[in-house]
Amino acid sequence: MHHHQMSARAFEAAREVIPGGVNSPVRAFKSVQCDPVFIERASGCRLFDVDGNAYLDYIGSWGPMILGHGHPEVRAAVAAALEDGTSFGASTWREVALARRIVDMVPGIDMVRLVNSGTEATMSAVRLARGFTGRKKIVKFDGCYHGHADGFLVKAGSGVATLAIPGSPGVPDEVVAATLTAPFNDLEALEALFDREGGDIAAVIVEPVPANMGVVPPDGDFLPTLRRWTEELGIVLVFDEVITGFRLAPGGAQERFGVVPDLTCLGKIIGGGLPVGAYGGRREIMAQVAPDGPVYQAGTLSGNPLATAAGLATLEVLSRPGVYDLLEERGRALAEGLGEAARRHGVACTVQGIASMATVFFGQTGPVRNFDDALRSDTGAYARFFRAMLERGVYLAPAQFEAAFVSLAHGWDEIEVTVQAAESAFKELAG
Ligand SMILES: *Cc1c(COP(=O)(O)O)cnc(C)c1O
Repeated sequence: MHHHQMSARAFEAAREVIPGGVNSPVRAFKSVQCDPVFIERASGCRLFDVDGNAYLDYIGSWGPMILGHGHPEVRAAVAAALEDGTSFGASTWREVALARRIVDMVPGIDMVRLVNSGTEATMSAVRLARGFTGRKKIVKFDGCYHGHADGFLVKAGSGVATLAIPGSPGVPDEVVAATLTAPFNDLEALEALFDREGGDIAAVIVEPVPANMGVVPPDGDFLPTLRRWTEELGIVLVFDEVITGFRLAPGGAQERFGVVPDLTCLGKIIGGGLPVGAYGGRREIMAQVAPDGPVYQAGTLSGNPLATAAGLATLEVLSRPGVYDLLEERGRALAEGLGEAARRHGVACTVQGIASMATVFFGQTGPVRNFDDALRSDTGAYARFFRAMLERGVYLAPAQFEAAFVSLAHGWDEIEVTVQAAESAFKELAG
């Protein structure tokens, strides 16, 4: 048995002074019906909690830690930047270098603006799309999560789905009235929506491979058709690649699927574990951003020296040959291992994954193609599986509607140990 006394004490102290005891809702472990563990430190693919328990980490800070924790090159880059000062509110070479690398790696990005989070990136991209088109409405897909800005809190994934909050109090009706929604992977519904509203739509924003309702790959014709129709209607197509960027391929989902959006939102991996987001795209659109153009967007800490150093070092490592093949093989080994283990013990579930991320949807008998499908998952079974895995030293996402992330630091041995833990957890669940 793991002991969690110190975590329990920390959580009690936290709840006195932080709402729910956490600075982001899913960290509270509510949907898996246990108390959260507090982390002391991390190294490679392992987390160590305040009670001295070690875990194989499949959250990777919810995506950013694709190299694993404490990668020597990232640490060295941050340490070197620290010597020079932590923030100037003025321009630095590192910002140019990071922007250049992003432009070189991501097919749809000619110019890029750095911000501090994925939320900032998506809200800025939508403002820009509205400024560029002079239109008001936006379209998002059910179960996709685009950060916590007002206009996106409609049928949102991730923590919003996990806590079953339909939208959120505090979001004015007028704001969400400009957000239209459609089911993912449903071209018929999209066609009807475009027929009705096409001329008023500024932007369609989509996770090209949604990972915030669990991992849901797009049907073969979904992204290409979405691209064609938005182009015909003069709608700005925004790929929210905050998770998929630099994970599905060096150039993200747009490289992997060969579909190039007008704007791209980035986050998570580009900060290498420090707070960075970015939005970028076609030069003609990006030229509308202040001070070149009239669309205002700013940030005191944007392009922060430590954050850009971590991001640059991370992208540098990811640019090396063979890195993505390795991530792909290990991601596949994990997904296949989990699927086979579940089948051996007769646990009903569907495992879906792509590249180095995967989700086990409990209680499913067929593919999960959209949010409605995902919501039919057995979240109680997921909660039991999560707790059984945590007890066996494997730290999965504390909610069904998320992904497990594999990093470069997850070796074959660790994947093997994880699959064995799952084998034993499934057996417990089935028994
Ligand atoms: C995490 C995430 C965001 C929000 O990023 P934050 O840095 O948490 O604000 C936006 N879009 C997607 C697809 C995400 O996964």
